[in-house]
Amino acid sequence: MNSFLRCLSCHAVYAINEPIWKCACGGLLDIEVDFSRTKQWEIVKFPGLWKYLPFIPLPDKSIIITLGEGQTPIIRYLYKNQEILIKQEQLFPTGSYKDRGAAVMISAIRAMGIRSVVEDSSGNAGCSVAAYCAKAGIDCSIYVPASTSPAKLMQISAYGARVVKVEGTREDTARMVLSAASQNYYASHSWNPFFFQGTKTFAYEVWEQTEGKLPDAIILPVGNGTLFLGVYKGFHDLLSMGLIEKIPRMVGVQASLCAPLSHWEKLDLGGIPIDVNTIAEGIAIQKPVRGAQIIEALHQTHGMILEVEEDEIEMALRLAVEQGFFVEPTGVVGLAGTIQYLKRFPEVGKVLTAFTGHGLKSPEKILSVLSH
Ligand SMILES: [Zn+2]
Repeated sequence: MNSFLRCLSCHAVYAINEPIWKCACGGLLDIEVDFSRTKQWEIVKFPGLWKYLPFIPLPDKSIIITLGEGQTPIIRYLYKNQEILIKQEQLFPTGSYKDRGAAVMISAIRAMGIRSVVEDSSGNAGCSVAAYCAKAGIDCSIYVPASTSPAKLMQISAYGARVVKVEGTREDTARMVLSAASQNYYASHSWNPFFFQGTKTFAYEVWEQTEGKLPDAIILPVGNGTLFLGVYKGFHDLLSMGLIEKIPRMVGVQASLCAPLSHWEKLDLGGIPIDVNTIAEGIAIQKPVRGAQIIEALHQTHGMILEVEEDEIEMALRLAVEQGFFVEPTGVVGLAGTIQYLKRFPEVGKVLTAFTGHGLKSPEKILSVLSH
């Protein structure tokens, strides 16, 4: 299996072990994997998502930083007699699906001999990167918006990472870390291409867990699109290997208060008035770095972006806890979108979404929703 880094802007090619996170031209990098000679599904006897190691490009496959992540269960959930499949991505070592990406990215970074990284996050990616850096013995600084949930800040600090709080919007935090990244390696969940080689394992798991009978639509929350794009990439791999005939319809869900991608048909991700004070703090992203790739995935799968109102997110949260699922508000955005989708397309067939982050990440927000 051949793999290399390729710039999405100038198409320059780099070796997979090149210690860079962006192209010399400033463009985003992607990892291209040649599956043309891969004729069979070849898994190994490693725990969690590492059973897919033959399909995960890394600089050195003997160096794996793991906390036992992956293989989350899919639970059937009935909403007004309609079945919704929900993948339990809140059940990761740090409490969010971001561990898929961080495990693979930090393994790659450790193999390249990098000993110090910076990352910016609205919380969960910071927790994941801090945890895997602790395991790998890598020095780590996480830049967060000052408004981030206290439980997430505590979790990042507990792993021994430096927390740098930035006043202003999520974009202000991103600007600040980009200047720090000129001195340090940027372990970014949106820029770093290895992260998506981890999140793509969601698709592999869904394919195996449904025994190849894939859902008609996959409905996921989208901020920077780290899960959404990873899942698209994973299905694309399976398609390239001839293991599936088509990729399910990819449906992204955004909070209406911050939904730049719902204007994707105009290809205009800037200049849209946005209120980032949604209860879904984890997806309050004004300008997704990989917006063009998200739009491409929507085009390729006849997908769509749904907007959910704050009261739809709150209702999904109540439905989740009533059934014993303790999920943070951002983590139920997929369920809120799925309920809206089923109302609009009642004959759709099989749908799958995910709970993306654990309730203990944001207990004060959950309490405020449930108390009114
Ligand atoms: Zn380039």
